[in-house]
Amino acid sequence: MPRPILATIHPAAFRHNLERVRRAAPDARVWAVVKANAYGHGIERVFDGMRSADGFALLDLAEAQRVRSLGWRGPILLLEGVFELRDLELCSRLDLWHAVHCTEQIDMLAAHKTNVPHRVFLKMNVGMNRLGFTPERYRTAWTRLNALPQVDEISLMAHFSDADGPRGVADQMAAFASATRDLPGERSLSNSAAILRHTVQPAQAAAHPEACVVSDWVRPGIVLYGSAPDYPEHTAEHWDLQPSMTLAAKIIATQSIPARASVGYGSNFVAEDAMRIGVVACGYADGYPRVCPTGTPVLVDGVRTRTVGRVSMDMITVDLTPVPAAGPGSEVTLWGRAANGALLPIDEVAACAGTVGYELMCALAPRVPVEVAA
Ligand SMILES: *Cc1c(COP(=O)(O)O)cnc(C)c1O
Repeated sequence: MPRPILATIHPAAFRHNLERVRRAAPDARVWAVVKANAYGHGIERVFDGMRSADGFALLDLAEAQRVRSLGWRGPILLLEGVFELRDLELCSRLDLWHAVHCTEQIDMLAAHKTNVPHRVFLKMNVGMNRLGFTPERYRTAWTRLNALPQVDEISLMAHFSDADGPRGVADQMAAFASATRDLPGERSLSNSAAILRHTVQPAQAAAHPEACVVSDWVRPGIVLYGSAPDYPEHTAEHWDLQPSMTLAAKIIATQSIPARASVGYGSNFVAEDAMRIGVVACGYADGYPRVCPTGTPVLVDGVRTRTVGRVSMDMITVDLTPVPAAGPGSEVTLWGRAANGALLPIDEVAACAGTVGYELMCALAPRVPVEVAA
């Protein structure tokens, strides 16, 4: 028998979450962001559930090729653009749209021989200070691009640094709006947090010009995978999102320990009273964070309990006090949905590890078998 651990992908969740995005931004077209192998889920596994998106956004050219191999003929956007001149040949061949965020990428386009002009997304740096032209240098870049025969339509793009937090997007939005006021082209601004927290519905737009983040193309990533972009301020449940990944394993052994006995490496958990411990076939080599402390929530047979002691490479240990009937073979849900329907949001586990749901999904280890639910 294979080791009892399994990640399950839920295509129905993608459909639900995409619908949720459409409700939040009814007039926008939707880029389903599938970078990082669809946030660790596997592009091939998410494709069917996301095919009602208007396009796929990612950054690795090999991933773009995989999306085309799945038969997708619609738009594909390279969020970081090309890395070297010969990448542009692939863009021409596969009809990939690409971001242009720096002068070197304009130089490459100018040197690219193609009969098919490219659709590009010119990126503005509105304050994140990673990629893009500053508002002062944006117009020059636009003018240069616009003069190139290699370039077809130019869309205007920015990425917010604080859509999920108290600073919000108003200042960065204003910088974008004023620098692009008289430039033609479609706009693409919002990631998940901006879609959920800062999209002003068209009817109210006139009253909130400063916060008007309605864009032609929105770029949701994490919401499609059912994790809240602004946890713990809001939960996935609050935003009506469904988890797209369940990580489950089984108990492979139990121990009954007396008071004052310790569990695991470093003996860093000490039992106050006699208790039963379940040993679970999941460890940090599966992608479960080693930093999760005693008390991190888990579900055993759908009942909420906690980890005790240190996470090791292949195992974690859990408190069976709330589930006395559990034993070897019992189902353990590390995150996602248990067989009885109980939910353990990935965001809760991530918070215990001092990180975000994004990182846990992306870190699912290659040794974990993955199944797509019906
Ligand atoms: C990753 C990414 C997104 C999606 O972000 P989420 O927070 O997952 O919604 C959107 N735009 C760009 C440019 C990105 O790199």
